[in-house]
Amino acid sequence: MEINVPGMDVKDKVAVVTGSSKGIGFAMAYGLAYYGAKVVVLSRNIDESKEAAETISDDTGAETFALKCDVTKKEEVEQLIDTILDKYGRIDVLVNNAGRNIRKNLEEYTEEEWEGVIETNLKGVFLVAQAVTKVMKEQKHGKIINISSIFGSVAMPLQGAYAPSKGGIEQLTRVMAQELAPYNVNVNAVAPAYIKTPMTAEFLEEKSEAILNNTPLNRLGEREDLMGPVVFLASDSSAYVTGHILAVDGGWLCR
Ligand code: NDP
Repeated sequence: MEINVPGMDVKDKVAVVTGSSKGIGFAMAYGLAYYGAKVVVLSRNIDESKEAAETISDDTGAETFALKCDVTKKEEVEQLIDTILDKYGRIDVLVNNAGRNIRKNLEEYTEEEWEGVIETNLKGVFLVAQAVTKVMKEQKHGKIINISSIFGSVAMPLQGAYAPSKGGIEQLTRVMAQELAPYNVNVNAVAPAYIKTPMTAEFLEEKSEAILNNTPLNRLGEREDLMGPVVFLASDSSAYVTGHILAVDGGWLCR
């Protein structure tokens, strides 16, 4: 009997990780590089992107390519995709990670603040996905992984911009999964709980006890906790997984 066991690695795949100069994005880019991908590292700050890309290459031996792009700007996103295609001719994996948060009571948000969170987290994911979708449809293969949050499905005070943006990402993921399935493109999301990164450092210092009370595994998440899930969703081993929201949350959502 012949059995073809699908690969668990991402060897030689071209992977683009938005917002990968630091935090979770950096860790996911590192994990993909460790398992063999050529990784495009990008943020709005080219120096930080270059530094992150260099660290990843030095540590893992993988090829990296640092670029500057603001994911909220359509022209910059289109330029980004053209630059990547000029260099590699394809995009196998997209991790839509760039994001931000402003925690406030609803009545305290300015219009600009509220729009700013939605614009980065939801419109940014849409714009990059839209540009990459065209490429992956033509290739007839690809993996898109959108980074949501536990706040894509649960709510809490002070998340009046962030939670709607992440809920939107989860619905966008489900729509894209159906639209792209005929083209052999898988679209999934990852929903982390609290992970120690520059975005959460200050907040976690104050609130870690309350968070631990809601976390069955009784610890905060580390950036490394995202590596395995994202590599799995980028690898051939997840070929029959699409439209799924994978919680990486220490059990938060199962309570
Ligand atoms: P960080 O603030 O540590 O890193 C955010 C990254 O995104 C940076 O590289 C930043 O670089 C980049 N970025 C921000 N805005 C843009 C933009 N408009 N265009 C391109 N790049 C941008 O955040 P985290 O690592 O904590 O979060 C990453 C993702 O994970 C976000 O989507 C977040 O919502 C999600 N998440 C995080 C959790 C956590 O606990 N940390 C929990 C659940 C989800 P620069 O500003 O220089 O452009």
